[in-house]
Amino acid sequence: MSKAKKGNIEVQSDNIFDIIKRFLYSDQEIFLRELVSNAVDAIQKLNTLSRKGDFKGEVEEPLVEIILDEKKKSLTIRDNGIGMTEEEVKKYLNQIAVSGAREFMDKHKDSNIIGNFGLGFYSSFMVSDKVEVRTKSYKKDSKPVLWTCEGNPETLISVGKKKEHGTEITLFISEESKEFLQKSRIEGLLKKYDLFLPVKIKFGTKTLTEYEGEGDDKKEIKKEVDNIINEVAPIWTKKASDLKDEDYLSFYNYLYPMSQPPMFWIHLNIDFPFNLRGVLYFPKLTSNIELDRNKIQLYSNQVYVTDEVKDIVPEFLTLLHGVIDSPDIPLNVSRSYLQSDSNVRQITGYITKKVAEKLKELFFDDRKAYEEKWNDIALFVKYGMITEEKFYKKAEKFFLLKGTDNTYHTIEEYKEKVKDLQTNKDGKIVILYTNHIDEHTHKVSLAKDRGYDVVVFDHPIDNHVIQKLEQHVEGIQFSRIDAETLDKLIEKDEKIESILSEKEEEKVKKLFLEVIGDSQGSLQVAPMSSKEPPVTITRSEGMRRMQEMQMMQSMGGMSFDFYNVVVNSNHPLITKVLKKIGDSKKDFAKYLYDLALLSHGMLKGDAMTDFINNSIEYMSGE
Ligand code: ADP
Repeated sequence: MSKAKKGNIEVQSDNIFDIIKRFLYSDQEIFLRELVSNAVDAIQKLNTLSRKGDFKGEVEEPLVEIILDEKKKSLTIRDNGIGMTEEEVKKYLNQIAVSGAREFMDKHKDSNIIGNFGLGFYSSFMVSDKVEVRTKSYKKDSKPVLWTCEGNPETLISVGKKKEHGTEITLFISEESKEFLQKSRIEGLLKKYDLFLPVKIKFGTKTLTEYEGEGDDKKEIKKEVDNIINEVAPIWTKKASDLKDEDYLSFYNYLYPMSQPPMFWIHLNIDFPFNLRGVLYFPKLTSNIELDRNKIQLYSNQVYVTDEVKDIVPEFLTLLHGVIDSPDIPLNVSRSYLQSDSNVRQITGYITKKVAEKLKELFFDDRKAYEEKWNDIALFVKYGMITEEKFYKKAEKFFLLKGTDNTYHTIEEYKEKVKDLQTNKDGKIVILYTNHIDEHTHKVSLAKDRGYDVVVFDHPIDNHVIQKLEQHVEGIQFSRIDAETLDKLIEKDEKIESILSEKEEEKVKKLFLEVIGDSQGSLQVAPMSSKEPPVTITRSEGMRRMQEMQMMQSMGGMSFDFYNVVVNSNHPLITKVLKKIGDSKKDFAKYLYDLALLSHGMLKGDAMTDFINNSIEYMSGE
């Protein structure tokens, strides 16, 4: 054996390894990702050299092998890449890497960031007592090198025995980190970080069972084959024009095996001013959107980084699924830095633009199909409109109002459709909506009798959407179908005379006050057109919105149900009730009030039971 030369890792502080161990403790597992990434880099460098003609030797199939030896308590990462000469070992492993590590430590000492990238090779000391590097450069006549380091700044370099070019790094796993000697733990890590690396990653072998022959002659044949962890060319590295729908769908299924197929997707591919590839899918959202959120995976040159992409994609797009791969997203920095990073801001803008373009394209290419999907995409679009100004501007063209009759219109189309009947005395077009089609059926049908149109806004974020539209679209105003009596929903100039005298109106008011009792409503007796029901419940638009906003902010808080009761003094049944005498007068009024509650879905519990029993009794008495 040749004599080993002693060297020193050039560090100021002797205990850099202690710092590495302590500092990165909670994220120990990344050492494997770092070493495998280095191995892949080394192979890709050799490929480049060979393509350029700088390497004339034979290029075998590129392969990174992970070898676990439980007896020796070691884990080896072997590649057939460019390898290193003795000079390079000294340069890269003794100096640069450590100074890089030190810089990293200095920069992040006070923060909580657990290193993503940047520590590279030295992260191996987080889990090992000793590291051996056997390497041989691709360069002609270069000698193999063996580098050994036992976790202190002293290193040994000697002539190694390695015959082929490439590098083999063996970690002797420390007692505290013995979890990394478990096959399942290592396989799990490889699957987590290296599933889509561009070079084959082999981890042992696996048994394949195949069948030969038919019927009784059918034979089972078992074959030992390489256990290849990864898919070297995932779809986001390919050209969209080379892919079919099936490819996108099967990739989706691979990423999220239990999910329903996505509705559509966008293929991202940009080289300038930053580099980004990816495929983003629009999933069919489930009823619990929190579960659908944050499923985008972030890669850097096909190495998995994280599925925390909140700071990289606009919030509304965290509902999308899929993969983003960009080496231009800084990975070892804090969140606030990330948000101010110009690349990240441009990336955010780019993704937003792409998503808007895709939706616009779907809308203009096949309106019918777009409408059919609207229920599923409405939430993305709305969410985007209220949170991203840039997106809002684009979305105004493909945002759809859904009618209670299942027709769909853009805002502009809708204004055109309803402007004749639904313009109020101030010249504003009033868009009537319901948030609960079942509870508002009666109101909706009365509105339709007048020729009005009603749209549906039934999601909790719709208040914000409505507010946003009112701010941005000229000359419109939204009114929920129960905000006013029908006469006043779209206020016109007409005045209606009452057929009752003032004294009679007073009597009606007194009677209904008795019937309503201590409810939170206010009572009003007013002359209305004959199409209005005898009693109506209303909730003023402004008050209701304010209360709902407050409730959303304070998570519940003061929730009381305020409403107004309006009695139509011109309705024949009100004239009739005045003529009744004794108990039946009050019963009759109560019945009319209950009908109003019923038609607003507000007759519940005991009140509903009483109403039914009374009705039955009343009819039996006829
Ligand atoms: P980084 O990868 O960020 O440059 P590392 O500490 O991981 O930092 O590695 C330092 C250098 O050592 C690399 O840039 C590379 O030149 C060399 N190196 C590390 N691993 C290998 C390998 N498997 N094959 C060839 N060179 C390697």
